[in-house]
Amino acid sequence: MRTTKALREDYRRMDSTWPRPLPQATFQELKSAAIRLRRKFHPRSPKWKMKIVETSGNRHGGRTSRGWGINPECGWDSMVHHLSHFIAGGHHDGHLQTEWAMIKHVRESGWLEGNLKREPKPDAPKASLIERRAAKAQRLKERAERELKAAEKRLRKWTRKVRYYEQRAA
Ligand SMILES: [Zn+2]
Repeated sequence: MRTTKALREDYRRMDSTWPRPLPQATFQELKSAAIRLRRKFHPRSPKWKMKIVETSGNRHGGRTSRGWGINPECGWDSMVHHLSHFIAGGHHDGHLQTEWAMIKHVRESGWLEGNLKREPKPDAPKASLIERRAAKAQRLKERAERELKAAEKRLRKWTRKVRYYEQRAA
């Protein structure tokens, strides 16, 4: 049985594997990383239905009433620490191993260098009211043309039938 002290030493050694100072992360980067880490280190868990929400101030993250919290002010190490507890439970050797592997994965994936950064998508230019009405008029005109063609086809068919019976009767 490992003494608490030895375990605490290992946690300290693990923490020292983070490069310091850690680069600032955005909520979007941490969220992308959390989704990937959970998939990699907890693949058999049911699909993570918790909404990932941004927290701030002294809400450091983890389970919240609104979902799974990530506080970008607290940074990479805090996000990984909370997530590793979610995956591996409290402080013990198994948890230490999981968190250590997660830290290694974060470092080796280039995430600290920013390769999860995504530019927000520019909004599609909003069609004006006039443009939307013009598009609707076009759609309804095309539908009317299709209906007219179908009606003409029916008219030709029944005209032929009528002519047939008139000739028969003659
Ligand atoms: Zn902890």
